[in-house]
Amino acid sequence: MKSLLSLLSIFVHFFGNDLVIAESKECVKVSVLDFVTRDKCPKCFVPVNFNSWRFDRRQILASSFPLDPIAQNFVRQVHDCLFSITYPTPLRSNVRLVAFSSPVLTDILDLPDSVTTDIEFVNFVSGSRVLSSSLPLSHRYGGHQFGYWSGQLGDGRAVMLGEFVNQRGERWELQLKGSGRTPYSRYGDGRAVLRSSVREFLCSEAMFHLGIPTSRAATLVVSDDPVVRDQFYDGRPQSERAAIVLRLAPSWFRIGSLEILAKNNEVELLKELLDFVIKNHFPGIDVTDENRYLALYSAIVSETAQLVASWQSVGFTHGVCNTDNFSLLSITIDYGPFGFMEEYNPKFVPNTSDDEGRYSFENQPDVGAFNLNKLGEALRPVLSNHQIKQLPRILHGYQQIYKNKFMELFISKLGLLTIKENDENLVALFLRIMEDTKSDFTMSFRELGEIDLQELNSDLVSQKYWSLTIMASHEWFGNWVTKYKERLREEGIRDETRKTRMMKVNPRYILRNWMAQEAIEQAGRNDFSGVQTLLRALEHPMDWDREAEKAGYASPPPAWAKFLRVSCSS
Ligand code: AMP
Ligand code: MG
Repeated sequence: MKSLLSLLSIFVHFFGNDLVIAESKECVKVSVLDFVTRDKCPKCFVPVNFNSWRFDRRQILASSFPLDPIAQNFVRQVHDCLFSITYPTPLRSNVRLVAFSSPVLTDILDLPDSVTTDIEFVNFVSGSRVLSSSLPLSHRYGGHQFGYWSGQLGDGRAVMLGEFVNQRGERWELQLKGSGRTPYSRYGDGRAVLRSSVREFLCSEAMFHLGIPTSRAATLVVSDDPVVRDQFYDGRPQSERAAIVLRLAPSWFRIGSLEILAKNNEVELLKELLDFVIKNHFPGIDVTDENRYLALYSAIVSETAQLVASWQSVGFTHGVCNTDNFSLLSITIDYGPFGFMEEYNPKFVPNTSDDEGRYSFENQPDVGAFNLNKLGEALRPVLSNHQIKQLPRILHGYQQIYKNKFMELFISKLGLLTIKENDENLVALFLRIMEDTKSDFTMSFRELGEIDLQELNSDLVSQKYWSLTIMASHEWFGNWVTKYKERLREEGIRDETRKTRMMKVNPRYILRNWMAQEAIEQAGRNDFSGVQTLLRALEHPMDWDREAEKAGYASPPPAWAKFLRVSCSS
């Protein structure tokens, strides 16, 4: 009874506040020119003044599910709910907003860049000010980590501030990451260090601009609050600085969100969550259909297969593909010790803590299937015996969907339009030559798209095409070029068309570890210009950029880049 009462008071408090601040849908006259000129909503504008910025009054997550009745913030096992109300713990010393993504502010949050100088906004993104329209929540989820069930994990250092519906009607969930302890912090301090926050901030945006489904990052806040980390787990802990990233996704639900409910036999809640996900995120599935959970499974299997194929197409290796880091919407989430492959090496493992290479580049497709199998297991309690028998068949489709998407992407990386019989060999041979010669994955494709076909031959020696030149030293390169030219002739593509096409899908700038590291080291000296410069280049990964070239982003990586290590510690 007591818990019911406290829950009720939360809602009264919450909705009570929202009634007071309920926003008018009428047009608002906007005074900031920069904002007015954006041609998005011809009739109405959301206010530019951060004081009148609001979360959606229908906080559908908070109002659709039972909340943890315990209001105090201490580490515990939580049952029969999806969320605990958790207020951020503000950073204390020298708190500054040091980088922001302009596209996220303007295109998603309906805010002008100038808001980043508004102290109220800075307080908001650093966790010091919780808006009256916000009921901050930490999410309870579980997960299989490195193949084994880990029990309750949850948002140990993130809180969801609320749901924002923008002018385009898109609904986004805003989270602070690194905002202090929650009931799910286990042994952690709830904080995130500067280096990992810079990496998550940059990579979320880099992935988006590469066209890969991902969570987004709006702002990066840094403080002088000390956080102790043993970065390489070698008994040498050091004091680092705490930072907070404001990150966004249409949903933060993961495979682990369902797993914990299935494992704990909370079947009603499992059904509620599944129906919620279908209703809000899978409009193509009828929520009254008795086969809806199988339809959902099919959709997630298909979309995850395509997501992983798109990772492979840019050499992205997530690093920690645990089920708690796999989104139900099949977007890339939880950036930790990720890496973009440089020299093509299928065995590439970005995370130095991953001794066995479980999450290597080449293992990602299989790990995707492993995680989807765990998703299937989490669905079993809500399925009939007959439906359970369908799960393996659906999962079996993963491989083909993955392969089709992989081929579609790699064919377009070669400038081709349609997949023909021998194209698999054409792609495989190109990758094999890359692997044997240790040439750069990103630049080999890029340069292939930049070079005139006449220039492309096995005698190629060119500084301009440094990566292709490395490939050209391979005895099979000439043979591959002949096959490639034949194939292009067959398709009847003009060389200019081929080049233009390839330029749109093969990035020149990716977030290489050394680039992130340079920005991090600069940030360590309180110079955040490197983060912002890098972000600007990554926002246009396909477009030649003078600054990026000067910084060497498309040049052979510096020798010291080889010795860089990234661990799970963050
Ligand atoms: P990750 O591998 O970073 O996605 O995190 C795995 C789990 O550990 C999640 O439940 C995180 O919330 C939690 N976690 C990671 N770092 C911390 C930290 N510093 N404090 C509390 N929880 C953490
Ligand atoms: Mg995670």
